[in-house]
Amino acid sequence: LLDALGDQAALAIERVMLAEDVDRAKLAAETERLRSALLTSISHDLRTPLASILGSATSLTRYGSTLDEAGRLDLATNIQEEAERLNRFIANLLDMTRLESGAVRPRSGPVDLSELVGSALERTGRILAGHHVEVDLAPDLPMVDLDPVLFEQVLFNLLDNAAKYAPAGSRVTVRARRLGDAVEVRLMDEGDGIPPADVDRIFDKFYRVHAQDRQRAGTGLGLAICRGFVEAMGGAIAAGNRSDRSGAVFTLTIPAAADLPALEDSSL
Ligand code: ADP
Repeated sequence: LLDALGDQAALAIERVMLAEDVDRAKLAAETERLRSALLTSISHDLRTPLASILGSATSLTRYGSTLDEAGRLDLATNIQEEAERLNRFIANLLDMTRLESGAVRPRSGPVDLSELVGSALERTGRILAGHHVEVDLAPDLPMVDLDPVLFEQVLFNLLDNAAKYAPAGSRVTVRARRLGDAVEVRLMDEGDGIPPADVDRIFDKFYRVHAQDRQRAGTGLGLAICRGFVEAMGGAIAAGNRSDRSGAVFTLTIPAAADLPALEDSSL
């Protein structure tokens, strides 16, 4: 009897192991499929701006001398914009890799939020040149506990999106206020906003509401990086839509620096 039971047990174990092998093989196949889809998408995102750079550079070298000043400037501007796009994409890929490998270890320490907002706006100056930017920071803002480099990247990604998804000439608002032991920063735009069904998904890696939209090229990585960075710094980020008009709102909640007096209002 014991032998028979032993055989049965061995058989059952064998079956479970076989099922596990099948699961493992399925998982490996799915991982491989995702990896190759990812490579295709990344190659496409790299090649599109590169093709445009090559096209404009070739026109400049071949026909530059026959063009007028404005024509040459057009080509040079296109090269610059596409190179910047390429640069942002590669920076996003590197940031994502750092996040996923656990290599992001935020520095902490008291930081002046208004300085960070100022430098993020400086970096996005050219991108947001066609928009009206309004900054409204409460005068009693405390220092915040943040890694300035990571947080500036978060603000940059959100402002870059506002420039991309809200029409030229519209208003982009950055507002910050104290909320108990935290500071709430809100970025609002006047674009179409985010379809309610997508609000929870836009922070997923590679998720884009209009995936085929080549006009507003993107990688679907910007917001995933924002969430990763903000959470690594002990904060939170949420997306929503404005109630007063159409437009997206991104709300960041970040811890105030402990035991530090509120900043003096510099205008006093
Ligand atoms: P990307 O902009 O490269 O596509 P993101 O991760 O930054 O990637 O954003 C994911 C998606 O969220 C975007 O493709 C877009 O559909 C949506 N989105 C982000 N910001 C806004 C915004 N300000 N207004 C409307 N939709 C937005």
